[in-house]
Amino acid sequence: MLDYHLHLWPHHEHDTPLRVEQLAAYCEQALAAGVTELALTEHLFRFRQADSLLGGFWDDGRVPPALAESMAQYWKFHATADLDAYVACAQEAKDAGLPVVIGLEVDFYEGNMDAVAGLLAGYPFDVLLGSVHWVGGWRFDDLDDPVSMAEWSVREVDACWDAYTRAMEGLAASGACDVLAHPDVIKVAGHVPDAPAEWWDRIAEAAVASGMAAELSSSGWRKPVGEQYPAAGLLERFVARGVPLTTASDAHHLDHVAYRADDLRAVLGAAGVATLQGYRRRCPYTVAVSSGPAPAAGGGGTV
Ligand SMILES: [Zn+2]
Ligand SMILES: [Zn+2]
Repeated sequence: MLDYHLHLWPHHEHDTPLRVEQLAAYCEQALAAGVTELALTEHLFRFRQADSLLGGFWDDGRVPPALAESMAQYWKFHATADLDAYVACAQEAKDAGLPVVIGLEVDFYEGNMDAVAGLLAGYPFDVLLGSVHWVGGWRFDDLDDPVSMAEWSVREVDACWDAYTRAMEGLAASGACDVLAHPDVIKVAGHVPDAPAEWWDRIAEAAVASGMAAELSSSGWRKPVGEQYPAAGLLERFVARGVPLTTASDAHHLDHVAYRADDLRAVLGAAGVATLQGYRRRCPYTVAVSSGPAPAAGGGGTV
């Protein structure tokens, strides 16, 4: 098993020091749960380098002022850390023999993904998650922000899913990332169309066309929707089309590392999935769900 989606900081913190000891504690907890390899995948938008490149991306003149202001504050709070220091800390953990790979969770910045890819090409990333957390400047998954959550009562659920799916298709087509993270996170607050099959089909097709893997995440069990990402119907479509999978907790602190790994294993078993996909320097390799020994994380080039 893998835990290929881990953050170093909760969202309400932004000046916590990076420590290899924290990563060692993550690994210890994961290994105890039968998770043999971890990917560190902090959000790109937590770093100053993203601010230089992308700051103000939401301000296209079409975003309602309240949402634009909310996004501006969110961005200002978050985009403060140093990407070089983050990568150096992850590399130090890897060099010390911890079973970690170096990654990042990257949002979809429409029209800017070539610039994002250019920035990231300068770092030794093993895996890049691609995520959609906002559409048109609206952070639909920010459960703690009343301005964002109020939008759910004035928008049509089908239209939200459509906009989300279009962003996922754009993200996949950009080729900038390796894994579609929490593929149906648009359901996070509990809003699901009566007939989601159309959007599930499109998301699965986007994964196939791009060659990306998809993530099976336990984090939805901690959210109002109360369901893993992706839903069984979308997971079934990924499996039927041969889309490789990773597993993930999306932990933002130690308590959630390897969260409900056994339940994820059961979901995979029910879907008939016996292998997952890991990455070294953005090259995929196959790992058994039953957790055989993984290639040495420190060596690289073994795939
Ligand atoms: Zn995410
Ligand atoms: Zn995340």
